[in-house]
Amino acid sequence: MFWGLMSVDAAGVVHDGESALRRLSAVANAPIFCFEESFFGHGIVGGPMHSVAELGEKTAGAAIRILGGEKPADVKMEPIAYAAPKYDWRELQRWGISESNLQQGSEVVFREPSIWEKYRWQVALVAAVILIQTGLISGLLHERRARRLAEVESRQRLAELAHVNRYSAVGELTASIAHELNQPLGSILTNAETAELMLKGASPDLREMREILADIRRDDQRASEVIRRLRSMLRKAPFELRDIDLSVAVREVMGFVRDLAAGRNIQLSFYAPPDTDLHVKGDPIQLQQVMLNLILNALDAISEVQTDKREVSVIMSRSANHAEIRVGDTGPGIAVADLKTIFDPFFTTKPEGMGMGLAIVRTIVEAHHGTISAENQPFGGALFTVRLPLAG
Ligand code: ADP
Repeated sequence: MFWGLMSVDAAGVVHDGESALRRLSAVANAPIFCFEESFFGHGIVGGPMHSVAELGEKTAGAAIRILGGEKPADVKMEPIAYAAPKYDWRELQRWGISESNLQQGSEVVFREPSIWEKYRWQVALVAAVILIQTGLISGLLHERRARRLAEVESRQRLAELAHVNRYSAVGELTASIAHELNQPLGSILTNAETAELMLKGASPDLREMREILADIRRDDQRASEVIRRLRSMLRKAPFELRDIDLSVAVREVMGFVRDLAAGRNIQLSFYAPPDTDLHVKGDPIQLQQVMLNLILNALDAISEVQTDKREVSVIMSRSANHAEIRVGDTGPGIAVADLKTIFDPFFTTKPEGMGMGLAIVRTIVEAHHGTISAENQPFGGALFTVRLPLAG
């Protein structure tokens, strides 16, 4: 559209100044051009226009000359040409006119500063904060990943070490296990021989034969159970958390060491409170290993000394939200100076000892978010207390 001037519209309404232009521009569907600079800034795109300043200057010059006495007819004026083109940035944006299409030497005015020009410092500050924060977060994530990896690796190491330790513990139990296997195997043999003899008879008692076979079956199951327990103890298993009944797991260990204790003439006692929930979240094999190491140590301690009272007691209880296992013995106890170091790796007072048992015990207990402590009992002997958080 080309805008000239509008003072009165078709309906006879009088318009003042550029108000008509403004209203037109508000609803226009095409860009508006004009040659009068005085309308520029009110909805005109721009282009070559008559400069208001130049017109004013020249008019004032003529007036001064007339006032100075010259005749108006003598005052000759050069025609006023278009000034250098200028454009309204807001209108260029509105109509999508690219600045590259404007003729050379064009001036673009009313340009709105970009966010960057307006808030340079604030933007730089926010960007810096985001950058630092991103750095920190990625650093933390990296650290967390590294820690997770280290945790997994240390668990793996623990599982491997614990496995080796179990082998050596089971090695100590060989005699005890052999005894446990021998008993059912011996009964099976006796029963089989008896059955053979009976079959040689004229009229074998079938009822008795049935009983003998049931005995053989029971003894066979007993032997299989010993082998199953041994296998599960020696299984090379990764650390795994399960919901387990601690008293069942501990009772099973008692079965392992019963004969070893008897062979050394040591009385072994076990108590778990009846009807008390002692479920924990843990790795059953590793927790059994804790018990095995503590009991074997207690048996070793008593074997060291000549004493009439040869007892190892394993007592379970529940305190608030913890399951507690106390392993006490009537051995020589622990030298006060050693109480702080017995859990350290390679600390041993035994000639053949490796000093890894208690270190592994503590690592396993702590991996289960539990605690272990050692003390001497008032009437002699050592007492180890393991506390594990109850499941749920
Ligand atoms: P090791 O049995 O190979 O010596 P442990 O880590 O199991 O390794 O035990 C470390 C040391 O702690 C033992 O050598 C012993 O001195 C001491 N200890 C452990 N249990 C007892 C106990 N019940 N009574 C006395 N001392 C014990």
